[in-house]
Amino acid sequence: MNTIKLTDTFVTPTYNRLPVVFEKGEGYYLYDQEGKEYLDFTAGIGVNALGYNHPQWITATQKQLGQLQHTSNLYYTEPGAKAAQKLCVQTGMEHVLFVNSGAEANEVAIKVARKYGHATAPEKHEILTLRNSFHGRTLATLSATGQDSFHQHFGPFSEGFDYIETNSVSDLHEKVTDKVCAIMIEIVQGEGGVIPLDVDFIEEIASVCEQKDILLIIDEVQTGMGRTGKLFAYEHYGIKPDIVTCAKGLGNGLPIGAALLGQKVKDVLQPGDHGSTFGGNPVATAGANVVLDSLTEEFLIAVEENSLYLKEQLEALDEVEQVSGLGLMIGVTFKNMTAKDVMLKAKEEGVLFLTAKDKLRLLPPLIIDKKGIDSGIACLKKIVTIHNLEGVK
Ligand SMILES: *Cc1c(COP(=O)(O)O)cnc(C)c1O
Repeated sequence: MNTIKLTDTFVTPTYNRLPVVFEKGEGYYLYDQEGKEYLDFTAGIGVNALGYNHPQWITATQKQLGQLQHTSNLYYTEPGAKAAQKLCVQTGMEHVLFVNSGAEANEVAIKVARKYGHATAPEKHEILTLRNSFHGRTLATLSATGQDSFHQHFGPFSEGFDYIETNSVSDLHEKVTDKVCAIMIEIVQGEGGVIPLDVDFIEEIASVCEQKDILLIIDEVQTGMGRTGKLFAYEHYGIKPDIVTCAKGLGNGLPIGAALLGQKVKDVLQPGDHGSTFGGNPVATAGANVVLDSLTEEFLIAVEENSLYLKEQLEALDEVEQVSGLGLMIGVTFKNMTAKDVMLKAKEEGVLFLTAKDKLRLLPPLIIDKKGIDSGIACLKKIVTIHNLEGVK
């Protein structure tokens, strides 16, 4: 049996996969079994920040793999300690708890918030998130996800979550009660359709949190690790979160998640309060160190520049209706084509895009350059031109 048939026969069908089997990657290109080249604007859904086969990342992970693969958290290993130090030094946060995915990092944030709230009052346990948010697939993070479509089949869901209308300051004030221990937001809603929050709304949330001793949790699983041109997207605004979660880009290809804890909450979790067998694995954290070392000021400026260039090129296309997003996290709508249609046609042309709700979603490896952007734009131009010609016929 070939790989597609094997997968469809033996792997649970929780994903709609495109019929292509990838064999290798290099930079921002992927290659399938027939050797066909694909320009990648997906980065494994925001994971492969440094692209494929990044030399330092390969060297560091291979070296660690050949030396020590895993020990459990009952002992000390160096790579995790160094990665935690870098994350704290670069953000001003105090402690890091490593896990293995974005959802797990958000679980940590939820547990910290609940324990912190309980210390004030037993009923201070409610966590507010936003309508249209996405926070993961575990039961608690599904409950945190503010979309009704996610709240089916798997009930009873976790109690103690309520949802604020995205960008509604009045709804924020309505939902904030003495029961609220934390507000959790994405700076740009990724799965929700690449929707950046309004500046006023972010600032109001931060100010309410500060006034009422409510923890501010920023889910940076998709927006973090240089994706928006800063190490974390919250740095675009003058806010100071209590908890920041990250995963995707930190891993660059290996599973990892992290919850960064600020001054107020750094000691909330004590021995026995949480655990993860694989969390802080030395190979995954050896790779994370290379990601963190790579995100220099120069690198982040290049992300900003390429973002501006990419947005300009997209906006110059006749067929493009709207461009949204921050940095290299971009959503596009088209006048006469659906995002899914564009995504499927582009794949045939050898260019990979994602979708999010009604948007074409672009999450290229952060090492994308002008040449890669030009090829992607040329492909989009070709697709919309052919579509319009067919429309005229
Ligand atoms: C992807 C994502 C998650 C879930 O991460 P997993 O690693 O798939 O568990 C959580 N929050 C946001 C904002 C995400 O984009």
